[in-house]
Amino acid sequence: MDTPHDRESLEEIRDALKNNNPALAIAKIQEYLDKQNKTPLNIAITGECGSGKSTFVNSFRGVDNKAEGAAPTGCVETTSVVTPYAHPNYPNVTLWDLPGVGTTKFPADQYLNHVGFETFDFFIIISATRFTENDVKLAREIKRMGKKFYFVRSKIDSDLYNERRSQREFNETETKELIRDNCIQGLQEQGIQSPQVFLVSSFELHLHDFSLLHETLERELPEHKRNALLFAMPNISQQIINKKKEAFHDKIKYVATLSAAAAAVPVPGLSIAVDVALLAGVVTQYIFGFGLDIPSLKRLAGNTGVPFNDLMSVITSPLAATKITPALIIKVLTQGASTAALMVAEEGSRFIPIIGIPAAMALSFTTTYRALNGFLNKLADDAQKVFEKALRRNTTD
Ligand code: GDP
Repeated sequence: MDTPHDRESLEEIRDALKNNNPALAIAKIQEYLDKQNKTPLNIAITGECGSGKSTFVNSFRGVDNKAEGAAPTGCVETTSVVTPYAHPNYPNVTLWDLPGVGTTKFPADQYLNHVGFETFDFFIIISATRFTENDVKLAREIKRMGKKFYFVRSKIDSDLYNERRSQREFNETETKELIRDNCIQGLQEQGIQSPQVFLVSSFELHLHDFSLLHETLERELPEHKRNALLFAMPNISQQIINKKKEAFHDKIKYVATLSAAAAAVPVPGLSIAVDVALLAGVVTQYIFGFGLDIPSLKRLAGNTGVPFNDLMSVITSPLAATKITPALIIKVLTQGASTAALMVAEEGSRFIPIIGIPAAMALSFTTTYRALNGFLNKLADDAQKVFEKALRRNTTD
């Protein structure tokens, strides 16, 4: 997405390059890349005590309930204050564990002021049963304040488990429809028109309606917030991984343009230095977005019970699960012979009179574009394999 902010930053980087100030250009590149993950997204999670708020917050952040930094769970008054939980890889995305209206002394309208409703982009109202009068009052107030809310019916796994045990002819789809209809009917009886209810298990986000919830949020969020949500999403499906890949892919052309701008500066070696700094910064974003950094992989292991080494065993990219340094980028690039040849050709062509600079620019654009595309494809494949491995926790292989 080409925002005014993108254009302004790219101009600054180009200026630094034109003025022959490579250090400034590299610093600006870093700043530009950092700024991309600064869009704040604040998600409020509310519902009565024991409805599963904290577990949902933890699961969304990929954090095990028992892990350090997890939202405390259990049906004591663990959420009588408003508590922010930042996403481990995207501190701009915060999930707020809010007390249920019923557990505070405030009526719904005062409650919203009490929790500072302006901060939140949207509210998720969770219930493990039918939604209560308090939930409905709150939803009305949220709407009145011009904000959006979504109803999540939690713990669907345990409903299905119980129904499976008690019904002779158990049918999962029908059971879910019954639960959904029951919630919708309850909400309609309380005056909410055409409510939508998402059935979720925080222990199995890849099942049931969590993906649908994401699609709905994505559609209803302002455009500039969509990527913040997408990158913070746990890898719950191939579709999410593909969407992340596409969003990263959309940015490659800008990065490649910068690389071409660097190639226009007739200083030997500068183009490669800028390219490598760029590539390292962008690849680090891929790693965080796909959860292929070591802390994320460890959290996934803790969450799923699949040993960390088993997750690591399916990773093939030398860029995953390691610190991305310019030296590593050069090493990986030089292993791909054609990319290395292009980079050398680029350095050589710059000094050919007249056609030199345009040729170097074109080469640098192509080289950077190809290199990033290759890295992105491999890392997305790894993310997919890790996701599949993590799901196989209950099988023997
Ligand atoms: P809170 O008080 O709303 O924050 O609720 P908690 O997150 O502490 O959850 C209360 C209890 O419900 C805990 O024992 C959780 O393990 C359990 N729980 C929460 N979400 C789920 C879920 O999706 N499925 C199942 N089976 N149990 C859940």
